[in-house]
Amino acid sequence: MGGVRGVQSPELLPDKWYNILPDLPEPLPPPRKPSGEVVSPSELEAIFPKELIRQETSTERWISIPEELRSLYLELGRPTPLIRARRLEQALDTPARIYFKYEGVLPTGSHKINTALAQAYYNRLEGVRRLTTETGAGQWGSALALAGAIFGLKVRVYMVRVSYEQKPYRRIVMQTYGAEVVPSPSPYTDAGRRILEKDPDNPGSLGIAISEAIEDAVKNPDTKYSLGSVLNHVLLHQTIIGLEAKRQLELLGEYPDVVIGAVGGGSNYAGLAYPFIHDRLRKNTGTRFVAVEPRAAPSMTRGEYRYDYGDTAGLTPLLKMHTLGHRYIPPPIHAGGLRYHGVAPTLSILVNHGVVEAVAYKQTEVFEAAVFFARTEGIIPAPESAHAVKAVIDEARKARREGEAKVILFNLSGHGLLDLKGYEDYLEGRLVDAEPEKIDLSYLPEVD
Ligand SMILES: *Cc1c(COP(=O)(O)O)cnc(C)c1O
Repeated sequence: MGGVRGVQSPELLPDKWYNILPDLPEPLPPPRKPSGEVVSPSELEAIFPKELIRQETSTERWISIPEELRSLYLELGRPTPLIRARRLEQALDTPARIYFKYEGVLPTGSHKINTALAQAYYNRLEGVRRLTTETGAGQWGSALALAGAIFGLKVRVYMVRVSYEQKPYRRIVMQTYGAEVVPSPSPYTDAGRRILEKDPDNPGSLGIAISEAIEDAVKNPDTKYSLGSVLNHVLLHQTIIGLEAKRQLELLGEYPDVVIGAVGGGSNYAGLAYPFIHDRLRKNTGTRFVAVEPRAAPSMTRGEYRYDYGDTAGLTPLLKMHTLGHRYIPPPIHAGGLRYHGVAPTLSILVNHGVVEAVAYKQTEVFEAAVFFARTEGIIPAPESAHAVKAVIDEARKARREGEAKVILFNLSGHGLLDLKGYEDYLEGRLVDAEPEKIDLSYLPEVD
């Protein structure tokens, strides 16, 4: 098969997603209201279609991918390539073998289309006509905009204001696919208006944008809300990445010793890692799992594990997760997709049980790694994905010191060709590192 870039045939596309819920080391705490009462699935029907709610709470280990969706995945470029980073290995002079799954080849440039298509599919099946969502850097908004175009759904995207201003190209991508894009906080919702009254220059955050998108969906009966990360059903759809990777590695006679990925809400990392975590939990493989976050939004390394809202206004149910508090507004780092106060509840449990190790890096060291990767492998990583690249380089250097020929697998969740401003700032020495001094969670409700 020559170069491993060739490991891409259609039979490698799975026909089921992997649901980690039945395999978690402890049951997932349910979503709750501030009173402590458990949120029932039917209460979510104002914002999500029934099938996605079913998937959210399902304890079936394998969930079938509908045939229409499978065909779409194939048409849009799945399976994505599994690539061996030989030139990176050589440049690091490491005995490690480094493989990455490259999601940047998909039409909107990242993994997010995997769940966007699935969500648009189930919404259309249940007669929904319009979707609202939030976006940070714009990758999720672009993916949902394309999915909306494919399934004939209107899409309104609340885009975090700082990204709207710093990243006009992704706004244009979304508009090209036919979506309506508004900077958040916006004057279209109560949540947005309340924030703008107090602080007209508020840079926005994913949490605020989520509040606005949910409010819009709740107030409009033909509209549902769509979320690009954090929730179980989103992580479920992304497991297609890891299931493909497993088959691709199998063809090469390889199995990973370390699985690495960048974490915003956790979806691309879970997507790659969960099928391998399945093996570790059930067959006790010795694989290590490393989840990487920015020092500017260190939910796994410095947050607390407790119930918090998914959004700033407190419209979502409370989820038990590692959180910095829903009022936390991260500094405007270039990895916009990692600027979130919480992290997926399932990933939080795996971190608590030591199955997944969490590390945090500064953006300057992340961009340094990204530039090194670009100059060896040729691909310019998304600033989010570059967090994984930094950890990979550290692991490969460690393998060299220890003389260990380990197999490193990571997710290159997207390309950075629309994130060149971050690269420019790095190259011109203008990048600044920022991290919270103190994390205040005293305002969070006590619900358990
Ligand atoms: C959105 C995004 C992320 C972070 O989100 P997760 O849900 O943690 O995957 C990472 N990489 C890219 C390229 C993204 O677009």
